[in-house]
Amino acid sequence: MRLTDFFLPTIKENPKEAQIASHRFMLRAGMIRQSSAGIYSWLPLGFRVLKKIEQIIREEMDRAGCQELLMPTIQPAEIWRESGRYDVYGKEMLRLIDRHDREMLYGPTNEEMITEIVRSSIRSYKDLPKNLYHQQWKFRDEVRPRFGVMRGKEFLMKDGYSFDVNKESAINSYNKMFIAYLRTFARMDLKAIPMQADTGPIGGDLSHEFLVLAETGESEVFCHKDILNFEVPGPDTDYSTDLQPIVDKWTSLYAATDEKVDVSKHTEIGASLVSARGIEVGHIFYFGDKYSKAMGATVAGPDGNDITLEMGSYGIGVSRLVGAIIEASHDDNGIIWPDAVAPFKVGIINLRVGDKSCDIACEETYTKMRDQYVEVLYDDRNESVGVKFADMDLIGLPWQIVIGPRGLKEGKVELKNRSSGVKEELSINDALNNILG
Ligand code: ATP
Ligand code: MG
Repeated sequence: MRLTDFFLPTIKENPKEAQIASHRFMLRAGMIRQSSAGIYSWLPLGFRVLKKIEQIIREEMDRAGCQELLMPTIQPAEIWRESGRYDVYGKEMLRLIDRHDREMLYGPTNEEMITEIVRSSIRSYKDLPKNLYHQQWKFRDEVRPRFGVMRGKEFLMKDGYSFDVNKESAINSYNKMFIAYLRTFARMDLKAIPMQADTGPIGGDLSHEFLVLAETGESEVFCHKDILNFEVPGPDTDYSTDLQPIVDKWTSLYAATDEKVDVSKHTEIGASLVSARGIEVGHIFYFGDKYSKAMGATVAGPDGNDITLEMGSYGIGVSRLVGAIIEASHDDNGIIWPDAVAPFKVGIINLRVGDKSCDIACEETYTKMRDQYVEVLYDDRNESVGVKFADMDLIGLPWQIVIGPRGLKEGKVELKNRSSGVKEELSINDALNNILG
């Protein structure tokens, strides 16, 4: 992509409304544009990151045996009446009336809808377990939307739902998600700590929140420092084996989000306890038959008798993750994207547009990258060098190739690694080889 073609409305000044780094940089880098409080358009640069995150989540969910589908954003009120949540959900739910006076709502979550789908389509215990998920926009009329995409009214969530015939199998489904979540966040270079959580309005028995540690996090967390160094299960993890030992290891040490935790009561871990702030990027629940019972979701068991389904639900804040990744990875100059979610892998800076040798070398580099399917953004604007450097640092691509007349005299370009700041003078081919690693 050439920057002269790309829609990248960057902003030099810090927007007044942005209190935290991710919000500031997302606005300044032209990733998002606020439409009204807590509601944003995703501009091309931001949308590319969102899609990458979505794809990592998809790959890890599929690997763990889940299947993707897509449910609508607008739901009928009836199913929420059946579960009993229509009246208790409160003002966060955006309620709508259609032209036939039917009560509808913009889904804040999808337990009811997926339960309705499963109860009307699955008849036998032989068709279970199933774990179905989608990545769909949600609406919650938050009292105080803030911090940009971190707490929006409209936000993208991955929400998955497991259906099993008994508790043992349901816990196994839960454990698969526990592991898949560790893997998903690790692939985004995030250290996400699973914390035992309240089950809250969703209700149920067992629940963990996954928190990314960051100073600007909304939750206060306490955990044993050793958890920070636990190794995340690798891509070869076999989801058909008993995963309980891995989950037990991750939950064996103290970790909790409850702000009322009395640390003095945990003297046994004393100095090992770290207190920090965290951003909730995922939340998993096992809640048994809470919805299936209320909504009559049963299957025929081996003896012909009805079995009420055991369920779990598993959320990831897809759009919140964009902000969380930036909170975890930035400096004063801008974003530092982890490779896996970077909107482009490389930025080429032409230091002197109009200089024949520079233009030719840049075009050659640009073409070579594209031929190798490297995602590349070429700054071919006739702008000052200062502006180009500042914008490239701001948007945070992992690699920068700086091409100017002086270096070219010796056949060299400069390769800069955004994360380490290390700069090297190399030939174009060597620069490309370094990037391809
Ligand atoms: P929070 O405690 O932050 O309000 P929640 O517990 O209500 O979140 P869940 O129902 O568990 O949220 O939703 C699953 C995930 O969706 C959360 O872990 C979070 O990452 C994300 N999420 C929830 N609310 C928002 C929001 N208003 N804006 C962006 N992401 C959100
Ligand atoms: Mg939650």
